[in-house]
Amino acid sequence: MRKYVIIGAQGSGKGTQSLLLARDLDLVHISVGDVFRWHVQNRTKLGAQVRRAMAAGELVGDDLVEGVVRDRLEQHDWNYGFIIDGFPRSRRQAEFFLESYDIDGVIHLDLPDEEVRRRVLARRLCSRCGMDYNLIADRPTEEGRCDVCGGELVAREDDTEEAVAERLRIYREKTAPILELFGRKEYVVTVDARPGADAVQRTLREKLGLPAPR
Ligand code: AMP
Repeated sequence: MRKYVIIGAQGSGKGTQSLLLARDLDLVHISVGDVFRWHVQNRTKLGAQVRRAMAAGELVGDDLVEGVVRDRLEQHDWNYGFIIDGFPRSRRQAEFFLESYDIDGVIHLDLPDEEVRRRVLARRLCSRCGMDYNLIADRPTEEGRCDVCGGELVAREDDTEEAVAERLRIYREKTAPILELFGRKEYVVTVDARPGADAVQRTLREKLGLPAPR
C-alpha cells in the first residue's frame, strides 16, 4: 500500500499528476478542494460554511478540513493506497496528518509565481460535467464549449486575479513552510512543474523510485 501527499501552488498540476499516478497504481485520489466544490455546488450545509472563504481564495478553517479528510479516509476504500491533493496546507493540518498516517512520499510540484498566474487565469471548467480545460495548453475544439458534453465552460469562482494573488500569498506563507516539517520526517521529492504533464509524471516516478508510466 502506498500513501502520498502532493503539494504545490494552484495551477502546478496537482490534480493532473495525482490522477496519472492514481490511475496506474490503483490509488484513490482525494482532493479536498473537489470535496468542498461538490458541497458548494450541491448547496449543503458544509458548502454554505466554506463558500465565502473559497471564493476569496482564503483557507477554510482547519476543523472543517480535518473533518472532511478524516471522514474520507475512514471510508477505507483505498486498498492499494491514496494520493491526497490540496492537503495539508497549514502546519496544524500537517501535524494532524502526521500523527494519524505514515506517508510514503511527499511530492512537491515547484512552479514560479508568474507561471502560476498565467496558468490559473487560463483555466476553465465545464459547468455541466466538470471536465478541466486550459486556454493555453488544452483548448476545447469549440470556444467556450465542453468537447465531452457540450456544456458551457466557465472559470472557477476563485480563479480571479485577486483570489489568485491571495492564494499565492497564503501558499508561500503557510503551505510552503510545511515542506520543511515533512522534510524532517518524511520523504519529500521536489519536481519542476514547468514541463508538460507527461514529462513531470516521468520525473516524479523516477524520483519516487516507481516504474515509468505505462
Ligand atoms: P484547491 O482546489 O485545492 O485549490 O482548493 C480550493 C479551495 O478550497 C482553496 O482555495 C481553499 O479555500 C479550500 N481548501 C482546499 N483544501 C484546503 C485545505 N487543506 N485547507 C484549507 N482550505 C482548503
